[in-house]
Amino acid sequence: MSGNPFETSLKTLHEAAALGHINSEVVRLLEQPQRQFEFTIPVRMDDGRLEIFTAYRVHYCDALGQIKNGVRVVPDMDMDTAKALGFWMTIKHAVGGIPAGGGKGGIKADPSKMSRREYEALIRGFIRKLPMKGAWVDVPGADIGTHGRTQAWMLDELEEIQGFHSPAAINDKPVEANGTELSREATGTGCYFVTREITKAMGMEKGARVAVQGYGNVGRVATELLYKDGYKIVAISDIYGGIANPDGIDVVALGAHVDKTRSVKGFPGCTEISTSEVLEADCDILIPAAVQSVLHEGNAERVRAKLIMECANGPTTPAAEQILYAKGVTIMPDVLTNCGSAIVCSFERTQGLTDQYWDKETVRSKLEEHIVKSFRETYDTATQLGVSYRDAAWINALQKIEKAMLIRGRAWEDKTLG
Ligand code: NAD
Repeated sequence: MSGNPFETSLKTLHEAAALGHINSEVVRLLEQPQRQFEFTIPVRMDDGRLEIFTAYRVHYCDALGQIKNGVRVVPDMDMDTAKALGFWMTIKHAVGGIPAGGGKGGIKADPSKMSRREYEALIRGFIRKLPMKGAWVDVPGADIGTHGRTQAWMLDELEEIQGFHSPAAINDKPVEANGTELSREATGTGCYFVTREITKAMGMEKGARVAVQGYGNVGRVATELLYKDGYKIVAISDIYGGIANPDGIDVVALGAHVDKTRSVKGFPGCTEISTSEVLEADCDILIPAAVQSVLHEGNAERVRAKLIMECANGPTTPAAEQILYAKGVTIMPDVLTNCGSAIVCSFERTQGLTDQYWDKETVRSKLEEHIVKSFRETYDTATQLGVSYRDAAWINALQKIEKAMLIRGRAWEDKTLG
């Protein structure tokens, strides 16, 4: 994202709302969060000092269901980031057909500078101080700086406070703490399903050439599934550098190399390239799966892929997007491509509410069914209205939220009635 992330979200809202003729009261309601909280978490540090951390939680919009999603713990966390990400989650849940509203929050802190005891106290403090909580109100998940372990602490603290078992109230928990199967692989798996569908729709041959930036949780899972399905992986990078091989990279052997060395760098039989050169690799499909704003005015013209699958959030700046569209490049937007984990988080809550836990194959096939349906909706809207896939996904999401808001009476169809 370039500039203020919240302003970038508002820009997309206004563009898509105009194209989709969204009710003006609905747009006004979506221009700001429904609720936002800023609170403090005092933590007694190991050296005896009392440190007071600032935390944020935004309930952006709950028209489609309970508030749900991540808690980010980073030194530069602020309310604008929570607002932008909360809005994004609202749209992502609607795109993914999930009966949930969007929220986000976080703590301004650096986990790498804290002992395990201090960090656990901070996370438990977040749950104690969180003003509204529970499976029907606000379900915190993981994000940067949080993970299965922190989510298990959150659940434990919440159940201590409530006095009863409540696994549906926290997401991204390990399986051993009433979490769901496929939690870690959900986003990469979802990206694989959407890539498979769009390449079929575009008439791309089996064996299409793929370049991937970012070989972490998301990029690696998506790459391994595409490779298994016969796509040719020709370039990969992580933060340390990249590798390329026009004849195709052996992704299974690469997995063993990455497990050993923690990087793709140095994998035998490949040319070494830089982490940004991978974006300009000679390929059919480019998967940015690292960080935001990597495709910008300065490099968009040199992108050779015909299709970009946005696995990272906001990898394409608005200026780059215009250049890429002018070159005829197709972009599958982040809100669809990476909504797999949002969908599986919704399954996690359902399993927690029913106390019936599904096996991996069940979760995988339900994810496939859900995300392929979302892809179809986006594809059909883009085709019918002649708009980009990003606009189509946003229009569909806004229309779902609009219907909910109108039927609930939060906005009026006919404003002359009053
Ligand atoms: P990760 O930390 O597991 O992996 C990130 C990868 O990107 C690593 O290979 C890292 O080396 C590389 N990287 C980091 N900074 C880079 C840089 N400046 N340039 C090039 N490479 C860089 O993260 P992840 O969970 O795989 O998430 C990847 C992206 O997907 C993020 O943008 C994240 O917000 C987004 N996303 C993740 C999920 C999820 O479920 N994990 C869901 C939706 C969106």
